[in-house]
Amino acid sequence: MIPVLARTMLDLAQARRALRAPMVLVPTMGALHEGHRTLLRRARRLAEPAGSVIVSVFVNPLQFGPGEDFELYPRTLEADVALCREEGVAVVFAPGVAEMYPSLEAHRRPGREQLITVDAGPMGDILEGASRPGFFCGVLTVILKLFQVIQPQIAVFGEKDAQQLALVERMTKDFNLGIQIVAVPTVRDADGLATSSRNTYLSGAERATALAISRALQAALAARPRTIDVVLAAARRVLDDAGQLITPLTVDYLVLADPVTFAPVSPGFSGNALLLVAAKVGTIRLIDNIFLVVTNDVDAREPRA
Ligand code: AMP
Repeated sequence: MIPVLARTMLDLAQARRALRAPMVLVPTMGALHEGHRTLLRRARRLAEPAGSVIVSVFVNPLQFGPGEDFELYPRTLEADVALCREEGVAVVFAPGVAEMYPSLEAHRRPGREQLITVDAGPMGDILEGASRPGFFCGVLTVILKLFQVIQPQIAVFGEKDAQQLALVERMTKDFNLGIQIVAVPTVRDADGLATSSRNTYLSGAERATALAISRALQAALAARPRTIDVVLAAARRVLDDAGQLITPLTVDYLVLADPVTFAPVSPGFSGNALLLVAAKVGTIRLIDNIFLVVTNDVDAREPRA
């Protein structure tokens, strides 16, 4: 199937008319890779038997801060459409900035002064939100707009961006959007690095350093007893070592968080947690996370029956 390439709201409305439910949306910023491909395959199965997959490709200026890589973000629409064709996507919606935000002169100056935007609440101010002020406001605003214009029954997101996924789920509930949000586990290259559009900018040496991120998560998973301190120390050791390399890694955050609120777990916590890492290698900022069950000191010391 050759996907319809919709560049405007009008194109999209026309293309949509030919589709049947369920419509499954996969929002992306393009430069599609194996992680995205996995989302498309999941979307394809969710759309069966009569529905269709719609992929949005939009580098959203609202979610880039000053000095971030909005201009430099890879844009590979032709290759993206080719990948979508392989995966049976019906429509690729790739609007320009002025089409998405007519009231914003963002094509000249990214900002959100002229817009009504979504407030991401307290969960939007921590971790990624603390490092990138306004990031989740930008993300949720564009996702809400995409939901409005596409009106999918289902939308698919990756667990790689765990905080984003949680906030989208939250917005969907809090605004009664009635869209089913489906999560797809993180896709990794054979060496463990989570696939990302930004990986294409890593040099060989930077990539070798970046592997410390997934290795740190694996070290945390393997650590025993799986208490907060032991888990964090295991991950920290691997990241610290990578900080000493000639091409070093600098940690933005390493946090063991509650998977619902994303608040750091308190001492004595036991239960489900997410270990989240953000780090920079050269100029490239990378994030990753892993789910694990932590136990508290008391339980860890109990003799096994
Ligand atoms: P992006 O184009 O980076 O905005 O990502 C679009 C969607 O793909 C988001 O829902 C991401 O979480 C998801 N995604 C990106 N990379 C991966 C990956 N390595 N594994 C799973 N999902 C991913």
